[in-house]
Formats: sequence, C-alpha cells, structure tokens
Amino acid sequence: MSHISDAIVQLHKELEPSGARLVAVSKFHPAQAVQEAFAAGQRLFGENRVQELLAKSREIEELFPEIAPQIQWHFIGHLQTNKVRQIIGRTALIESVDSEKLLRIIDSESVRAGVVSRVLLQVHVANEETKFGMSPREFLDFFSNRGFESLKAVHICGIMGMATNTDATERVRSDFRTIRSLFDTVREDSSLALRGFDTVSMGMSGDWPIALEEGSNLVRIGTAIFGPRQY
Ligand SMILES: *Cc1c(COP(=O)(O)O)cnc(C)c1O
Repeated sequence: MSHISDAIVQLHKELEPSGARLVAVSKFHPAQAVQEAFAAGQRLFGENRVQELLAKSREIEELFPEIAPQIQWHFIGHLQTNKVRQIIGRTALIESVDSEKLLRIIDSESVRAGVVSRVLLQVHVANEETKFGMSPREFLDFFSNRGFESLKAVHICGIMGMATNTDATERVRSDFRTIRSLFDTVREDSSLALRGFDTVSMGMSGDWPIALEEGSNLVRIGTAIFGPRQY
C-alpha cells in the first residue's frame, strides 16, 4: 500500500470510536493524490485557495469522471470577497468564514446563484497575529445580536478554529477548549434555537489527538496523509 492509502486507513480507524470525520487537506498535492486517497475510502477533501480548488476539481472530472461526483470539497482558507462568486455551489462546506461581512456576501451570492451555502464561522484564539478569524467576542455578539436571522441562503453549521502553533501542548489544549466552549455557549442557548449547528472543526496533523480529546468532530489533516507540501 502507498503511504497515502495507508494513512487514510489508519486515520479512519483512529477516528472511528469518536465518530469524528476526516477532511483530507490536498492543497499543493495533485489530482492523483486525491484519487489515491479516494480509493482508500476518503470522500471529504479540503483546499485553501479558490483557484486550486476549481482547477483540481476540474482535473478530477477529466481524469477520474467516475469519482468526481462522490467527492465533497471543503474550503478551509481565507476567502477574499471578490472570489466568493467563483466557489458558490462548488463546496459542501465553507469552513473559514472569518467575518460577518464575508458571511453576508456569501449569503447574497448564494441567493443570486439559487443555492444554500453551508458554512462554519472561523474564530481566532491562537496566539498569532496573522491568523484570520472572528474574535470570541465578535462570534458571541453575532449570535446574541441575532445576526443570523437576516440570512436567506446560508446555513451556519458550527465553528472552525486553529490552536497556537507551539510545542506547548497545554496552550494547544486550552485553545481547543476555548473554541469548544464558544460552540457550546451558542449551541446550548435555547433562545437561539439554531438547527443543524453541530460541527466543531479543529485539529491538524500535529495536534488532532488533542483536538479530539477537547471535543472536535471534524479534523483537517494534510501533511500526515500526503506528506510535506512543496510551496
Ligand atoms: C493546511 C491546513 C490544514 C492541514 O494542515 P497539516 O498540518 O498539513 O495537517 C488544516 N487546516 C487549515 C485551515 C489549513 O490551511
């Protein structure tokens, strides 16, 4: 077995007891790598750039037409507002909605395209300046102000976040705990009565076991499946 299929089989086995789902992050890896992972049973793939997602999914349609309709794409990168129109209707989930402004543009573009877009709100808790996301305060205010009520074609399915990139596992754990508790605060607020708000996306190659312990149900793993990326 190749490394890719080996890793997929192993990860599915390790995730099974928790019921968490796996997003195989295929960014910077070719369509053939996606096909290999697919053959090992993987259906959910993640990309972080609009052009790459569109090009790769087209390539898969050409090279492997029988598998293309069975693949679900998650968008996991910073989405520029001027690129929203290009990916509406092409993803199963946009995990990285990092501002209310972006959320509203996704909504209006979804109305225009006649589709409903499923999204996660990305929160920023990591100890790094450069990471995108809503602050915990913005996230909670959005819900307490009932900002979701005016959305017409967006379904908010949960939260996505990243932990600080550090070897200090207690910091990583506390970041994940913060993300999970933000999710729980919204989910358990019966006055909000949100339906289908059930997804907690956290955990990558280096920290997913901790994320699972802290309540993740969707992990996004690239390097541990496909190997290092050549930027
Ligand atoms: C690239 C990326 C991942 C996967 O990272 P690995 O360390 O390669 O597993 C997960 N989430 C996001 C948002 C990413 O951009």
